[in-house]
Amino acid sequence: MDCLEFRRRLGAEPHSRAAELLAHRDRCAACAAAWERAQAFERELHAALEVSVPEGLAERVLLAQATGERRQQTRRRQLAFALAASLLLALGLGGYGWKQLDARSLPALAVAHMPDEIHSLDLVQPIGAPAIVDGFAVRGVSLRGPAPADVTYVHDCPVGPYKTVHLVSRVGGTPVAVLYLPHKQVAKASDFQRDGWHGRIVPLQHGTLVMLTDRGGARPFDAVARHWRAAIDGEGGAQTAQGRAVNKAPGRLAP
Ligand SMILES: [Zn+2]
Ligand SMILES: [Zn+2]
Repeated sequence: MDCLEFRRRLGAEPHSRAAELLAHRDRCAACAAAWERAQAFERELHAALEVSVPEGLAERVLLAQATGERRQQTRRRQLAFALAASLLLALGLGGYGWKQLDARSLPALAVAHMPDEIHSLDLVQPIGAPAIVDGFAVRGVSLRGPAPADVTYVHDCPVGPYKTVHLVSRVGGTPVAVLYLPHKQVAKASDFQRDGWHGRIVPLQHGTLVMLTDRGGARPFDAVARHWRAAIDGEGGAQTAQGRAVNKAPGRLAP
């Protein structure tokens, strides 16, 4: 056995007591030193593995792990609460703020709907009461008052999530686009300006009226709202009594 073979065997089987191995060790000083180092290393390794595990270590490790997980869960929950709280604050503390945010999105939706039917504002020929009544009937709405006179356009239009009746009313030569959103409820009337459009949102009994015009000068929102309130809610018109009767009829859609 030469030195190379001895070192190879020693590395592979440090505990081997094979005769030819011990024979080379006993006549080669360098390999004897290597053998001693290998045995010392093996003894240290064995001693390290022999160290006894402290009493209850396994339980302590498991407990620390479980506690760590609980702390992590608690931190995650605290973070979720903090996020929810700041979201509520951002919305203005609860439902009221949310409703306001929703109402503010109406101008955006209404203005975005205008370009496709922009030419409807240039129509001047009144379409007549039957066409108006039909336009509302498509949305399941019965007019409770007389249809306004100078209506030049009617179409059933989806506007965002709302199934609207899209109309154009002309007052004193000024066209006003009118979107009626059945069942949509807003807290109060509000005016808005957006992308060159002037608008007003008006709550009705069972829906919401959104009026828009891109014309300057006096904006006849008051008159247009009055006309449509009379037609849709039946207020201030000859149909008031009938409107109230329909109002109390069972089975009507809740607002
Ligand atoms: Zn040797
Ligand atoms: Zn439309």
